[in-house]
Amino acid sequence: MISQAAPTFADIVAARRRIAGLIRSTPLVTAAELGTVSLKVESLQETGSFKVRGAANALLMLDAAERAAGVVAVSSGNHGRAVAFVARSLGIAATVCVSARVPAVKVEAIGALGARVVVGGPGQDEAEAAAHRLGLETGATFIHPFDDPRVIAGQGTLGCDIVEAAPDTSTIVVPLSGGGLISGLALAAKALRPRIKVIGVSQDRGPAMYDSLRAGRLTDVVEEDTLADALAGGLGAENRHTLRMCRDLLDDVVLVSEEEIAAAMRHLRRRHGLRVEGGGAVGVAALLAGKVDATVATVAVISGGNVADETWERVTG
Ligand SMILES: *Cc1c(COP(=O)(O)O)cnc(C)c1O
Repeated sequence: MISQAAPTFADIVAARRRIAGLIRSTPLVTAAELGTVSLKVESLQETGSFKVRGAANALLMLDAAERAAGVVAVSSGNHGRAVAFVARSLGIAATVCVSARVPAVKVEAIGALGARVVVGGPGQDEAEAAAHRLGLETGATFIHPFDDPRVIAGQGTLGCDIVEAAPDTSTIVVPLSGGGLISGLALAAKALRPRIKVIGVSQDRGPAMYDSLRAGRLTDVVEEDTLADALAGGLGAENRHTLRMCRDLLDDVVLVSEEEIAAAMRHLRRRHGLRVEGGGAVGVAALLAGKVDATVATVAVISGGNVADETWERVTG
């Protein structure tokens, strides 16, 4: 049985060593046109998003019996792809439950890595319920996309990488959905540099964590279509870690519109030659829109690059 204790900085340091062989070291590039800003380009990470960090840490912590029984995940696309990639690397059987809203390009990428894909229902909540059911039926270990201490610790390694590469950083701007990435990243960055500010950015169409933080409790969101498909979906029926961690660790959360996300995707293509999905571009969207102070040393996390060709061309072409 895996401990469900909240992740610590020591867990993140241990994760960094554990996952080193499965992830890439991604560049930090200057974006002076945005202000005193650098971009941490995790869209160039293995599987096209930072999610491989958490997936690698979680799967590498399974014992032999758990590995033999396989894993089951629920995903809006990138977590599933990351779990499928790590599972294949380690010889573990993986099933990924998705909702009908997940873009086909992401579903195909998961299948291409040898995982079984199950469309669990119309929305993320139904897909999560299907994944839990499959876990109970088959004995496979459920790997949550964000509310799992092993996953949070894995994502937190990105905070260590950023502070190591840019020790004088004042603010880190981070795409925010369920909060696994920003919780781990903020825990690590603030352990190393207590004065660093961490700002979350979500899409204004169904910002689950933003709504829950404002309400002071878990709230439901209505899932809407958004360019930031990787950020869509709710926090689930219960939440053990990320809501509390976001409440304790974040300095601010800002929202961006569809137009602002599109402008950021175009900007990243034209000025930096980077292919970035909507969810990965929200930090730059907030900077371009003047919603985050770009006059202090700022790192914006570019969290993913998995976008369908037709969306990419329609938005940025
Ligand atoms: C999953 C994801 C996020 C958000 O991560 P959370 O841990 O759910 O907050 C941001 N960007 C991309 C590209 C993602 O795939």
